[in-house]
Amino acid sequence: MIYADHAATTRPGPEALCAMRVCLEENWGNPSSLHQSGQRAAAALEDARRRVAACIGASPREIYFTAGGSEADNQALCSAARAGARRGRTHIVSTAFEHHAVLHALEALAEEGFEVQLLDVPPDGVVSAAQVAAAIRADTCLVSVMSANNELGTVQPVAELGALCRARGIPFHTDAVQAAGHLPVDVAAQQVDYLALSAHKFGGPKGAGVLYARRGLPVAPLIRGGAQERGQRGGTENLPALAGMAAALEASCRTLEAEARRLTRLRDRLTDGLSRIPHAALNGDPARRLPGHVSFCFEGVEGESLLLLLDEAGICASSGSACTSGSLEPSHVLLAIGRPAELAHGSLRLTLGPENTEADVDAILEAVPAAVARLRAMSPLWRDKINGKKPFLL
Ligand SMILES: *Cc1c(COP(=O)(O)O)cnc(C)c1O
Repeated sequence: MIYADHAATTRPGPEALCAMRVCLEENWGNPSSLHQSGQRAAAALEDARRRVAACIGASPREIYFTAGGSEADNQALCSAARAGARRGRTHIVSTAFEHHAVLHALEALAEEGFEVQLLDVPPDGVVSAAQVAAAIRADTCLVSVMSANNELGTVQPVAELGALCRARGIPFHTDAVQAAGHLPVDVAAQQVDYLALSAHKFGGPKGAGVLYARRGLPVAPLIRGGAQERGQRGGTENLPALAGMAAALEASCRTLEAEARRLTRLRDRLTDGLSRIPHAALNGDPARRLPGHVSFCFEGVEGESLLLLLDEAGICASSGSACTSGSLEPSHVLLAIGRPAELAHGSLRLTLGPENTEADVDAILEAVPAAVARLRAMSPLWRDKINGKKPFLL
């Protein structure tokens, strides 16, 4: 099997497994207990916090552990928005191609009375600081732009956006779930106020994440309970997952540069090969993108059918994002960059990770053109295009 769906989730790495095993077998105490078993667990929890903080240029006090990226996004947005509302500011700026964890949290805030402005995304999949600057108003209480898009792979100008928001005194949140462990993340250098990351996107376990909130900025709990996470996230800490996350983040940051160079080479080879398929196009900017991320539209092909054929050939890929597959709605991200619905239905996302090799790329470059040709041969729509009855879009 060739697993090429690392934007959906990654295989837990050896560092995470080892750290998790220690917690499950030996360090299973409750960090809130005052006895030695609890205190050992509490020390391990604070160790995980220090290590995560060091990887993103934060101080440990600015790290709040959550049960994943979605929770961290929700908590960041709600914390900043409610604090804004208390000062009479209810305008929120974000983008049309955010992950649903952000978009749906913003929808809920809109129902509460916030005015949510979603910026259009240019065809290259990169939002500009000028767009954000033009949208900011006197009553803006929050700007939220993701660090890298999960479907397109395009990387956003986070440091520029951070500098802009800092200069205007507006809290800036970034969903860094796709970036963390793959691109350098430095909350100080990038002037980020709130940031979300998720362990299972960089070789850690599912159900563990981080909300970074800059010192002095408001954080409000979504889950009320005990005094865990300084009262901002109730519930006994999932120490095995959190320790696994810290170990995985450290490991990926250690090898980040070399791995990024290796994956960029594989990615560009894959892009070149797929570009030879007629009536196909890469989605998003070819260079300003995540190292292992390739997203294509193939005309006259149904994305879900392509996935099934590739799965038969032993290749795990995705059409759009894992979160929307299963629904027949075209991807909101591909629509946001201006792909017509017909093309958005024919998308393929291949995301490479640590275990992928050049041989994998060769195998994918054999399988995809064959599958596309097979599906086109069966497609009435494709026949109409070939016969000139319907126009080609690409
Ligand atoms: C996966 C993902 C999330 C959600 O993270 P979970 O830990 O699965 O809740 C949020 N944002 C982006 C960009 C993602 O890729």
